[in-house]
Amino acid sequence: MAKYYVNNKQQSNSGNNHEVHREGCYFMPSDRTSLGNFYSAQLALDEAKKKYPDADGCIHCCPEINHDK
Ligand SMILES: [Zn+2]
Repeated sequence: MAKYYVNNKQQSNSGNNHEVHREGCYFMPSDRTSLGNFYSAQLALDEAKKKYPDADGCIHCCPEINHDK
């Protein structure tokens, strides 16, 4: 399992949504909310969407859940 976080600020340079990051990501925001431990990034994204419906995965640490073009 891995620990996931969601950015409390919208990422204006990345689709203008709230990005989900895996622990250890180089781009981890300082203003973040811990989502907990999950077996997959998709489960973490589902949790993040309860708080921020526009949540999306970080392209660097969670490319499997990144939907930005
Ligand atoms: Zn990341």
